[in-house]
Amino acid sequence: MEIRFYGVRGSISVSGSRIGGNTACVEVTSQGHRLIFDAGTGIRALGELLMRESAPQKATLFFSHLHWDHVQGFPFFTPAYLGTTELSLYGPGANGAQALQSVLVQQMEPPNFPVPLSIMRSRMTFGSALHGTPVEVGPFRVTPVDVPHPQGCLAYRVEADGHTFVYATDVELARDSLTRDVGRYLEGADALVLDAQYTPSEYAGQGGIPKKGWGHSTMVDAAQVAQAVGAQRLMLFHHDPAHNDDLLENMAEEARLHFFASEPAREGKRIVLGSTVTA
Ligand SMILES: [Zn+2]
Ligand SMILES: [Zn+2]
Repeated sequence: MEIRFYGVRGSISVSGSRIGGNTACVEVTSQGHRLIFDAGTGIRALGELLMRESAPQKATLFFSHLHWDHVQGFPFFTPAYLGTTELSLYGPGANGAQALQSVLVQQMEPPNFPVPLSIMRSRMTFGSALHGTPVEVGPFRVTPVDVPHPQGCLAYRVEADGHTFVYATDVELARDSLTRDVGRYLEGADALVLDAQYTPSEYAGQGGIPKKGWGHSTMVDAAQVAQAVGAQRLMLFHHDPAHNDDLLENMAEEARLHFFASEPAREGKRIVLGSTVTA
C-alpha cells in the first residue's frame, strides 16, 4: 500500500510553504487500485499527474465531510472531464450520496464557476459512507468511522496487504476523550493521519479565542492518541493557515515528546507500507 500526500493544509490554502499549502487530499494505491481521500485543492496536482498516464483512469473518492476545504479542488480535477474516467464518490452519512452530489453541483453553479458539473464527461457514481460499514475496493477494505466535528465527519480505516492506514482529519480528539468506539478503529495503524491544527495554547485561547468545540485537535493530543492506540507512525495533518513552516516543525518536535514517530504531513511525501522505501 502506498500513501501520497497532495494536500495537508486545513481551512484554506496558503502560498509559500515548503511543508504544503494545499487543502486536504491524500491518495492511497495498491495493486493498480486508487483511493482518494478528500478533494481539497491538492487534488488538482494529483489530476495533472494522472493526465500524464495513457491508460483510462479509475478511482474511488471518499469524502471525510463536505466543508469547503475538502471539496473545493474537485472542479480542477482534470480527469473528471474525460469520458474515459470512472469515479466512485462516497459522501458521509446515510444521505451521503445525495449530499455530496448536491455540494459538487452547487459549487460549480453560476456565478461560482464558469462551467457546471454536468460538463464533466467521466462516469460518476455516488455512494453513502456509513459508520462501521466497510466498503471493499480491489484489495482495500475501507471502514468509515464517525468522529467529533461540527456537523459530523468521517475518519477512514484502510486495510490492505496486511497493513493499516487511518485517515482522521477534522476531528477533535484527546487521549481522555477517546471513546472505545472511535479508539478501536484507530488501533494498531501502521500510519496514522490525525488532525493537529492547534498548539495547546491556541486551543486554550491564549492571545485569542479558545478553539474548544471547533472540531480540531492539538498536536499534543494527536501524539497522545497515537501513543494510546499503538500507532507505528503519526502524520500531523490539517495545518492551520496561520502556521508557518518553522512553527509546524516546532509543533512536531513537541509532539515527539509524547509520541516519538510524529512528523508534519508534507505535500508530495510518499509512504510505502510493507517496505522501508519513503521519499
Ligand atoms: Zn477541514
Ligand atoms: Zn471541517
